[in-house]
Amino acid sequence: MALLITDDCTNCDACPTECPNDAITMGDEIFVIDAFKCTECVGAEEEPQCMLVCPADCILPNPEFAETPEELQAKYENLHG
Ligand code: SF4
Repeated sequence: MALLITDDCTNCDACPTECPNDAITMGDEIFVIDAFKCTECVGAEEEPQCMLVCPADCILPNPEFAETPEELQAKYENLHG
């Protein structure tokens, strides 16, 4: 399951550089996670790195992108060749 950033985001800029998949970019108003790139850090880290650094606790699972750990691993491998 990819993650998403809620409206509670304060644009603190802590998370984009933590993402191993370059999935986080600035959107129209707040940072956004590209669900097609987010693997919940499966393949790279033990835990979602953006959630660890977010001071606003505004990063949650994206219910529209339900994926198994195996699917997330395959997604990671696909992204990184
Ligand atoms: Fe990137 Fe990991 Fe956050 Fe997904 S969970 S956006 S892969 S840092």
